[in-house]
Amino acid sequence: MNLPEIFGENVFSDSVQKDTLPSEVYKALRATIEAGKTLDVSIAGTVASSMKKWAISKGATHYTHWFQPLTGLTAEKHDSFIEPEGDKVIMRLTGKSLIIGESDASSFPSGGSRATYMARGYTAWDPTSPAFVKEGTLYIPTVFVSYTGETLDKKAPLLRSMNAIDKQAKRILKLFGVDCKKVSTTVGPEQEYFLISEEEYLKRKDLRLTGRTLFGAPASRGQELEDHYFGVIKTKVGEFMRDLDKELWSYGIFSKTKHNEVAPAQHEMAPVFSTTNVAVDTNMLTMELMKKVAKKHGLVCLLHEKPFEGVNGSGKHNNWSMSTDKGFNLLNPGETPENNTLFKLVLAAVIKAVDDYQGILRASVASAGNDHRLGADEAPPAVISVYLGDQLGALVDSIVKGGNYVPEKTENGSIGVPESPIFPKDATDRNRTSPFAFTGNKFEFRMLGSQANVADANICLNTIVADAFEKFADELEGKKDVEKSANEVIARELKKHYRIIYNLDGYGPEWEPEAAKRGLLNNKNTADAVPVCYEDKNVEVYVRQGVFTKAEAKARADIRLENYIKNINIEALTMIEMAKRDIIPAVSDFVSVLCQNVVSKQSVCENLPCRAEKQLIERLSELNDKTSEAVAKLESDLKSVNKDEVLSASQAMAHRIIPDMETVRKFADEMETLTSSDYWPYPTYFDILYGIN
Ligand code: ADP
Ligand code: MG
Repeated sequence: MNLPEIFGENVFSDSVQKDTLPSEVYKALRATIEAGKTLDVSIAGTVASSMKKWAISKGATHYTHWFQPLTGLTAEKHDSFIEPEGDKVIMRLTGKSLIIGESDASSFPSGGSRATYMARGYTAWDPTSPAFVKEGTLYIPTVFVSYTGETLDKKAPLLRSMNAIDKQAKRILKLFGVDCKKVSTTVGPEQEYFLISEEEYLKRKDLRLTGRTLFGAPASRGQELEDHYFGVIKTKVGEFMRDLDKELWSYGIFSKTKHNEVAPAQHEMAPVFSTTNVAVDTNMLTMELMKKVAKKHGLVCLLHEKPFEGVNGSGKHNNWSMSTDKGFNLLNPGETPENNTLFKLVLAAVIKAVDDYQGILRASVASAGNDHRLGADEAPPAVISVYLGDQLGALVDSIVKGGNYVPEKTENGSIGVPESPIFPKDATDRNRTSPFAFTGNKFEFRMLGSQANVADANICLNTIVADAFEKFADELEGKKDVEKSANEVIARELKKHYRIIYNLDGYGPEWEPEAAKRGLLNNKNTADAVPVCYEDKNVEVYVRQGVFTKAEAKARADIRLENYIKNINIEALTMIEMAKRDIIPAVSDFVSVLCQNVVSKQSVCENLPCRAEKQLIERLSELNDKTSEAVAKLESDLKSVNKDEVLSASQAMAHRIIPDMETVRKFADEMETLTSSDYWPYPTYFDILYGIN
């Protein structure tokens, strides 16, 4: 494989644009992409025709406006390039069909913000994310809005939030004499996933319908030996990874790192970061390709946050920063952060934003799947806090508490063997327990779920940081001594928001009570986390930054809750069906065989011992009854939930239905451990987690 040659071969990339577009048109397009200039519509025809020609040379016959509705997935509708000409056809893509598409919006979620009779929706080209050809179709990244201009997708508000940060960050940079055309946010999402054999997958209704196992006793071996993390990659998995890399690279996705994760059958892929909207698009494409490539290898890629109980779930660390078009990273502390007022101001803005809006930041990652991770012991707790590391932590402490900051000399490390190299030590150690950690020149937001569209968290992060920048800029513009005034702002804000900083073990038992003392939010599930999104303060920040209207902000929260309710409902129904149609009858059959065995043994000799059979008969009969009763309770509780009332229904799901489901599972999982594997209707955790050799 010639990597540089295949890299980006399916993408209408900058270099392809340069080669195929007239230079004036190319320049105009770059001005839009790089400096955020409004797109000059008159160039659309030329761009469309070059794009089409290039796409046809890659085997495309169709094009599609590719968008990200509020389902959390991507959507596409394919049109062929053909246009009749006499009794023949010509291949055509007009400027208009590149820029705008019309589509029936009524079947996509809108959170009631749009009446069904107003079904018209429009997809509009996002020229800042490159088009690509996949399986014979030209994919044009677009945003999706309604006839009346409401956003119906995740891209439009994401672009608005990037705009907001661009506008406000430039005001801050200007105060410090930093010149630039554009400030972009950058994201590198680390994607975790499970890989299992398709054969086992197809036998599990729960995995197929809900993405996770609803039943399953733990395998005798979990992750306790700590041998899977970074372990040798199995041949079959390695083949999958190589194939995946090849696909990702062909779409210009900078797949960089791959390794085994903590749980058996769990892996990770980390790309090199890119501008946020491109990172969002490529992450959506990455998840799709992971599933497709897995299928080719007889495997299934599980992106659910918690496919298996008892071993780690999957997340998606969102590495986030801001940088100018000249490559200046606003979160780079430099050699002497203590003297870097601009950096300290930016840091204070992020800390202020995260503290002021911890509620919506938490809500932005809330989902039925992610509820299994947050607050459980492998993932950050549901409390948001900021980790700064020793060096910056000491700097912030000195500002807040007074006293001198003695910069720690970055020491060189050595392994203690004369032949081994001296290496420069990193200024921040790794802290894996913080939900929002400073890691050198970026923040790593670790609360995202593995199947999430990363747009949600970034819309929130960009908006709240833009808002903090705006407040600081309003205060500092026109000040005579900007340095001095900025340092006053920094000290004031760091004092005010000091409570959000936590540099110790975020998984430790001391943290939750300590966080409660500090007044930090700790919303453990989606039903409890989302309602803060309706609070005035939390709506207003989106409105102020031009990211959502009031109605849009409310609609998004409604959709998040609706989604949660629907997911739990599907899980509950699947569980009921599995228990009633498969598990209870299977156990009953097994018990009946045991009974027959007792009878036949005793017909040979009345005194033959049958204690093993009898104990099993008793315990399994008891458990089967209990399972059946628990299922009946789950069924009747589920019927009583009014699913149209999102607030009360989501509360009922979290606090009644989920506990009901846990009870069903507890009895059924114990039965699994007692039932002959010939009778148990599903592959076990052992079969699934150790199914690939
Ligand atoms: P670590 O090993 O500490 O997690 P890495 O350098 O491996 O850090 O980076 C992890 C992820 O962070 C990668 O996806 C990387 O591209 C991304 N990243 C690095 N710098 C930035 C940045 N300035 N903005 C956004 N993401 C970044
Ligand atoms: Mg990392």
